[in-house]
Amino acid sequence: MELWYSEKHTDNVSFSLKIKEHLFSAQSDFQRVDVLATYEYGNLMTLDGLVMVTEKDEFIYHDMIVHPALAVNPNIKKVLVIGGGDGGTVRELMKYPAIEHVDMVEIDKMVIDVAKKFFPTISCELDNEKVSVLYEDGIKFVKDKENTYDLILIDSTDPIGPGEGLFTTDFYNDCFKALKEDGILINQNETPVYDKFFEVGISSYKKLKKMFPIVEVYQAHIPTYPGGYWLFNFASKKYNPVKDLKSKTWNSLNIDTKYYNTNLHKGAFAIPNYVKEKFNNGNV
Ligand code: SAM
Repeated sequence: MELWYSEKHTDNVSFSLKIKEHLFSAQSDFQRVDVLATYEYGNLMTLDGLVMVTEKDEFIYHDMIVHPALAVNPNIKKVLVIGGGDGGTVRELMKYPAIEHVDMVEIDKMVIDVAKKFFPTISCELDNEKVSVLYEDGIKFVKDKENTYDLILIDSTDPIGPGEGLFTTDFYNDCFKALKEDGILINQNETPVYDKFFEVGISSYKKLKKMFPIVEVYQAHIPTYPGGYWLFNFASKKYNPVKDLKSKTWNSLNIDTKYYNTNLHKGAFAIPNYVKEKFNNGNV
C-alpha cells in the first residue's frame, strides 16, 4: 500500500509527497507535530499538517531569511530570532564570526526536540554558546525590549494558531522599538500565487510600511511551499537592501552558502510587475 502526505494549498490545489515512513507524531501544547520520511525530500516536518521544513529544500528558505540582511550590514552583532525551532536560521547565523549573540525565542519546545532528533544537519547549532534558546511567546518577549538588536528575524508559521499574533501592528511596533537605530527586520511573507496567502503578505507589508522608512519585498523559489514561490519583507530603519548592498565585503567573508550569492541578491529584490502592482495597490 502506498502512503502519501498531502497539503491543501487552496480548495482546488493540493501538494503531495510519497511517504516511506511516519517517524513521529504528537500534539504539543500549541500544535500537532509530525515527522515523515519522504522518498523525494528526505525528512519532512509538519505543524498542524502544514509543511514547515524538508531536508532537501530547507537551505533555500534559511539562506534567504538570513544572508540578505548580513550582506547589507556585515557589522550585525546582536540578533533576535522569533520562531525558527528547526534551527536552520540559527545555523546560517553562526557562519558569521562577527555575530556576538543570538536570542532564539521559540514557543514550542517539542519542535526543537524533534528537530534535534530527526533533522541533525539543520538543528546542529542550537547548542552553540553564542545562542540563547528561550521557550517563550515571541509576542510577549519583545514587549519590554528597547534599542537592543541589530537584526530581528521572524521565522514563524503562518498567521494561524500561535503564529497569528506575529503578523500584527502591535507586534511590529514592539519589534521596531526593540531594534537599534540602524536595525533591520526580516519576516517570511507568504506567496503571491494564491490570494488567501497574498492577502496576508500585503497586509503585513502595509503594516510594516507604517513604521519602517524602508520596506522592500524579495523572493525565493521554495518547491515545497505553496506555489513554490515565496516572499520575504526587508524592513529597515536606515539601510536600503539594494543601494546599500556590500558585495565586496560580504564576498570577502567566504561564507559557504548553497543558494544565496550577492548577484542573486539583486535579482531577489527585482520582483515581477504583477506582484509589485498588488503591493503598491495594497490589495490582491
Ligand atoms: N520556515 C517555516 C515556515 O516558513 O513556515 C517556519 C519554520 S519554524 C519551525 C516556525 C516556528 O514558529 C514553529 O516552531 C512555531 O512553534 C514557532 N512559533 C509560532 N508562533 C510563535 C510565537 N508566538 N512565538 C515564538 N515562536 C512561535
